[in-house]
Amino acid sequence: MNTRILKAEFDYFAPASIGEALALIAQNGPTARFIAGGTDLLVQMKLETVAPGCLISLMKISELSVLKREKGFLRIGAAVTWDRILAFGSEDRSYPALDDAVRCLGKVQVRRMGTIGGNLCTASPAADSAPALLVYDSRVRLVSARGRRTLLLDKYFLGVQQTARAADEIMTEIRIPAPRPDVGGAFQKLARVGADISKISCAVAVERKGRVCVSCRVAMGAVAPVPLMIRGVPEFLQEKTVTASLLVTAGRMISDEIRPITDVRSTAEYRKQVAGVLFRDVFQKAWTRAGGEP
Ligand SMILES: Cc1cc2nc3c(=O)[nH]c(=O)nc-3n(C[C@H](O)[C@H](O)[C@H](O)COP(=O)(O)OP(=O)(O)OC[C@H]3O[C@@H](n4cnc5c(N)ncnc54)[C@H](O)[C@@H]3O)c2cc1C
Repeated sequence: MNTRILKAEFDYFAPASIGEALALIAQNGPTARFIAGGTDLLVQMKLETVAPGCLISLMKISELSVLKREKGFLRIGAAVTWDRILAFGSEDRSYPALDDAVRCLGKVQVRRMGTIGGNLCTASPAADSAPALLVYDSRVRLVSARGRRTLLLDKYFLGVQQTARAADEIMTEIRIPAPRPDVGGAFQKLARVGADISKISCAVAVERKGRVCVSCRVAMGAVAPVPLMIRGVPEFLQEKTVTASLLVTAGRMISDEIRPITDVRSTAEYRKQVAGVLFRDVFQKAWTRAGGEP
């Protein structure tokens, strides 16, 4: 297996504006690809599973590097690296589930080079940012020669490495609504070793009032062809007093809802069994962060 060298030749451009990048993708035909940190795409090129004739780097486009709060949203440019999001999360604790996810994503090299947009554009069912962004009701912004559009992340993932983004569309940013007070969030993943892709992951955002779960959102990674919003449990938990036995039932419902497969990292049976337990752990953490008793 070739994991060290790039054998194929390709053109390389590093435009400074969206307009230039869109012109380049139009001029260079169907084998042209955008590249950000390259931590997914270069691995695929070394493995020779993809062979772009032209790479268009997005890393010099300043619009894709925005990272700020504006008009009720946190705006994260698609080319913002994990390092920058980690530094932001150390100062701004509004999105603890995202912060948890970034802390366990890859190691130094990947966090220095890899971007949040690249993670969502590769669209692995195990993408670690996806469950956290889903529970925060995030949106993605896309631009092409046809114009700009905004999609709910929940509507963006279509299948394994398939999304609603067209090949000539650039993801410009992710927008996360400001969380309401009394919402706690958490994310956790299980992996074979520290720097590995998840065997299974879970994110929870829960709003509490005393011991009552006002509302919650739950999403899981590596349990379906897409990062999965869990549908049944939020309705089940809504306006109920949270108890240990309630969470055991909710965990069982999750194990029943997910449709994992067996692959190189884990078996479908293991994923189903562990999903409920993982959910309970992550829910408890989010609940505690929302000010509830552990
Ligand atoms: C050793 C190692 C460990 C890893 N660990 C993890 C992990 O723990 N968790 C995890 O989730 N992932 C992990 N990854 C995967 C990878 O690092 C992430 O998915 C990363 O966020 C990809 O971002 P990138 O900028 O490097 O993407 P790139 O490789 O540059 O691009 C990925 C894909 O997205 C497209 N693309 C990128 N940006 C845009 C954009 N703005 N608009 C349109 N298309 C775009 C590219 O054309 C390409 O198809 C790991 C990878 C490695 C090599």
